[in-house]
Amino acid sequence: MNMREGYCRADVYTPGRMRSHQCRRKAKEDGYCHQHHPETVRAREEKSRADYAAAMEKSPWRMLEKSQIKRAELEERVKCLEAEIERLMKGGAK
Ligand SMILES: [Zn+2]
Repeated sequence: MNMREGYCRADVYTPGRMRSHQCRRKAKEDGYCHQHHPETVRAREEKSRADYAAAMEKSPWRMLEKSQIKRAELEERVKCLEAEIERLMKGGAK
């Protein structure tokens, strides 16, 4: 694909089209438009990752996972307490 001079170098995919085309915006910095500048892209990806992580943290699945971890901890604790009660009962029966 020939690059048009003075325009952003980014390849853009249009939904429903097989081929990508060169971005139609004028290049502003390092041969890219503001939207496709590597730093802008990186910042956007960083933000979407952070948003995704935050959303995941609040998701029902994560809540369920947390409650399952909590439940496993509590079950472990109950086992310890039961063993302790068993021990005390045996000790008291003597
Ligand atoms: Zn662009």
